[in-house]
Amino acid sequence: MSGKVAKRFTKAALPSKTCVTCGRPFAWRKKWEKVWDEVKYCSDRCRENKSSMVRDRK
Ligand SMILES: [Zn+2]
Repeated sequence: MSGKVAKRFTKAALPSKTCVTCGRPFAWRKKWEKVWDEVKYCSDRCRENKSSMVRDRK
């Protein structure tokens, strides 16, 4: 029996999403562990910039 299970995640094993603002993929972060389902932006900056990306000229 190997009792030690390393609690380390490799980058490849992390889930990832695509930022809806900049369109770039970003990986899971510890700070998002409880809200991952709701995370849409790779950073606070993108979250604040979301409105600037919606530039519908009517
Ligand atoms: Zn982004």
